[in-house]
Amino acid sequence: MSEKCELISKYRDDVVDGKKLTRSTISELFNINNKFLLNLSDAANYITRHFHGSKVDIEELANIKKNFCSEDCTFCSQSAFFNTKITGYELPPPEEIVEQALNAKNDGANSFCLVAAWREPSTPDFEKVCAIIEEINKKVGISVECSLGFLTDKQAKTLKKLQVKRYNHNLETSRSKFPEICTTHTYDDRVKTLKIARNAGLELCTGGIIGLGETRKQREELIFEISELEPEEVTVNMLVPMPGTPLELQTQLDITEILRVFSTLRFLLPESIIKISGGREVNLKDDGQKLLVSGANGIISAGYLTMGGNTIKKDTEMINELNLET
Ligand code: SAM
Ligand code: SF4
Repeated sequence: MSEKCELISKYRDDVVDGKKLTRSTISELFNINNKFLLNLSDAANYITRHFHGSKVDIEELANIKKNFCSEDCTFCSQSAFFNTKITGYELPPPEEIVEQALNAKNDGANSFCLVAAWREPSTPDFEKVCAIIEEINKKVGISVECSLGFLTDKQAKTLKKLQVKRYNHNLETSRSKFPEICTTHTYDDRVKTLKIARNAGLELCTGGIIGLGETRKQREELIFEISELEPEEVTVNMLVPMPGTPLELQTQLDITEILRVFSTLRFLLPESIIKISGGREVNLKDDGQKLLVSGANGIISAGYLTMGGNTIKKDTEMINELNLET
C-alpha cells in the first residue's frame, strides 16, 4: 500500500475511534490527488457505515410559499430580481400541506420540511405556518423541519414548542464568496439565524450550494464553516442553473470535485446526516449512488422547490441496489 493510502486508513481509524482531525489533516484529505480519490471515498463510506449502519435518510420538501422573494441570491429562481417565468403562490390552507405530508409519510419519507421563499416570515405568515405545523402534528405524525429564512428568538422558541425537530438555513457558500452571490443580506445574517435556532433547542441543518463558480479553496472554506456549527444535518446542493438567473450559464462541477466535498465532510462530521440535496438528478448521472457510498447518508426525494425529481419509490429502489435501506 502506498504511503498516502496508509495515511487515509489511519485518519479513517482515528475518526472511528472518536478523534477529531486537525484542520491541516482535513485540508490534506480534501486536496488529495485524484488518483487517491477512490481510497478517500471508501474511507468515508467506512466511517458512514460505522456510525449510521446501512440507513439512508429520506426527506421530502414542501414549498409552502413560492417565488417573488425580496432577496437577490444569484442562483435562486424564486428571487423577485430575476425574470425566471415561474409561477408563484402565497401560503396555502393547512389541508393542502397536510395531504402532502400524509403522502410523504406513506411513501416512506423520514421527515417533511416546510420551505418558504421569503427573507423572513411576517407575524401573520408565521402564525399561519404554525397552524400548518399543528395540523401536521395532529393528523400525520411525521418529523417536521422548517426552512423559513431569518428567525427571531421568539419565533425559534415557538417552533421548538411545536416539536419542530430541525431548522434548515444554508450558509450557501464560503464567507469569501458570499458577497458575489447575494447583496441583500450578509453571511453573518445567516450565521445569526442558525445561532438563534440552536439557542432555542432546535437541531441544525445547514450547508450550501457547490458549483456557483467558487474555487476549490472556497469549497474547503465552506466545509470548515459548516463543521464549526456542528449541525446534526448537512445539506449539499449542486447548482441547477435556472433560466433567467445570473448563473443560468454556469458550467457543472466535475464529479471528482463533488466527491471531495462529500467524502471530506464525513471525516469532519462523522455522526451527522450528510444529505445530497438539490441538483442530484441534474448533476449526477447515477442519481447519487456514488455519493451514497462516499460519505452521504441522506437524500431529498420527490422533487425540489421549483422543479420535479425522482419519486421516493424510484429512489428507494436505487438505494436498495446498493444494499442500503431507507
Ligand atoms: N428563503 C429561505 C432561505 O434562503 O434560507 C428558505 C430556503 S431557500 C428557498 C432553499 C434552498 O435551496 C437555498 O438555501 C439553496 O441552498 C437551495 N437552492 C435554491 N436555488 C437553487 C439552485 N438553483 N440550485 C441548487 N440549490 C438551490
Ligand atoms: Fe429568497 Fe431564499 Fe431564494 Fe435567497 S435562497 S432568493 S432568500 S428564497
